Amino acid sequence: MEFGKFGGQYVPGPILKAVKEVEEAYNKYKHDEAFLNEFKFYLKTYANRPSLLYYAKNMTEDLGGAKIYFKREDLNHTGAHKINNVIGQALLAKRMGKKKLIAETGAGQHGVATATAAALFGMECEIHMGYVDMLKQSLNVYRMELLGAKVVAVHDGLKTLKEAVDSALITWSQELEDTFYLIGSAVGPHPYPMMVRDFQKVIGEEIKVQLDEVEHRLPDYVIACAGGGSNAIGAFYDFIENKEVNLIGVEAAGKGIDTKDHAATMTLGKEAVIHGMRTLVLTEPNGEISPVYSISAGLDYPGIGPEHAYLKDIGRVTYVSATDEESVSAFEYLSKVEGIIPAIESSHAVAEAIRLAPKLSKDQIIVVNLSGRGDKDVKQVAKFRNYELID
Ligand SMILES: *Cc1c(COP(=O)(O)O)cnc(C)c1O
Repeated sequence: MEFGKFGGQYVPGPILKAVKEVEEAYNKYKHDEAFLNEFKFYLKTYANRPSLLYYAKNMTEDLGGAKIYFKREDLNHTGAHKINNVIGQALLAKRMGKKKLIAETGAGQHGVATATAAALFGMECEIHMGYVDMLKQSLNVYRMELLGAKVVAVHDGLKTLKEAVDSALITWSQELEDTFYLIGSAVGPHPYPMMVRDFQKVIGEEIKVQLDEVEHRLPDYVIACAGGGSNAIGAFYDFIENKEVNLIGVEAAGKGIDTKDHAATMTLGKEAVIHGMRTLVLTEPNGEISPVYSISAGLDYPGIGPEHAYLKDIGRVTYVSATDEESVSAFEYLSKVEGIIPAIESSHAVAEAIRLAPKLSKDQIIVVNLSGRGDKDVKQVAKFRNYELID
């Protein structure tokens, strides 16, 4: 297994063949200089990297403890860290001679990111989406269509993400020749978790260099939210060997981890297989995967990337959770104090920084990975606060 007892390739035969083809290509190109240079070129000229490392002076003074910095993934093109991964995988797909990208999406964020990469590289794009999700996220459906993607409505079962995954996988297994399956987080069968990490680790590498320029040292803490875990592993990876740097992943506690409405996989999950990998999973007493809940669509996932399960196991990363209420408060706080409206996902990490900073001394440093911008979440936060918007 790739990550201690976690990871693996738990997929049926026809899909395993396709996964092995991706694995072979990834092994071939991950150290290929021309490939890596092309990846860096698009990160720089298209995605707007390096993203800024911003010293949050107002927040630091207000909380009266550790110095707080934000890694501004929200300033990337399309407003989140997801662009790093889709550029990497789309470039790999092109090298493999594939003409079409296929993906599933729940709330639409990964679908929009994938459609963006497809447009950039002149590839066909097909996004599978549950019909119920399409009705809820019609703006993102239109966005994907504007970007040239075909959105396939999935009418099976509950018509949400789970059925969209199945539908996308079936299509993939029928069109292996031309199609690349693009996964949106550090999850799925090997090599996806490792490959997504490698496309996201630029976040932590930049943090290290940028903080050294201004503070001439390593941070004491790096904090990131974790849904599938791609922005978190991207922010953490370069610091894993630096044992003095504390790494904290923050997952969604929803309405509270003592209720049924949460997505606190690391806190309450058990070892199981989900989406082709062995990892921690939220399950029911009968072994079925639990329905999960979070105000944040990006963190609303019953599994977690296998490398996180491993890093928890060996005690290198600490995982905590933040509730909807704490995260919405952090969303409001950062907007008011720093003039930055964070994604509701990222607000979970901000909530942990708000709890932690006052307990630390003024010479300590926290870096929070601000995985995305919050424009997309304004409507939902208004609803959470019973603020009436007129359409
Ligand atoms: C998708 C998303 C996440 C969750 O995904 P990870 O793979 O856990 O990073 C977090 N933040 C934002 C802004 C997202 O769009």
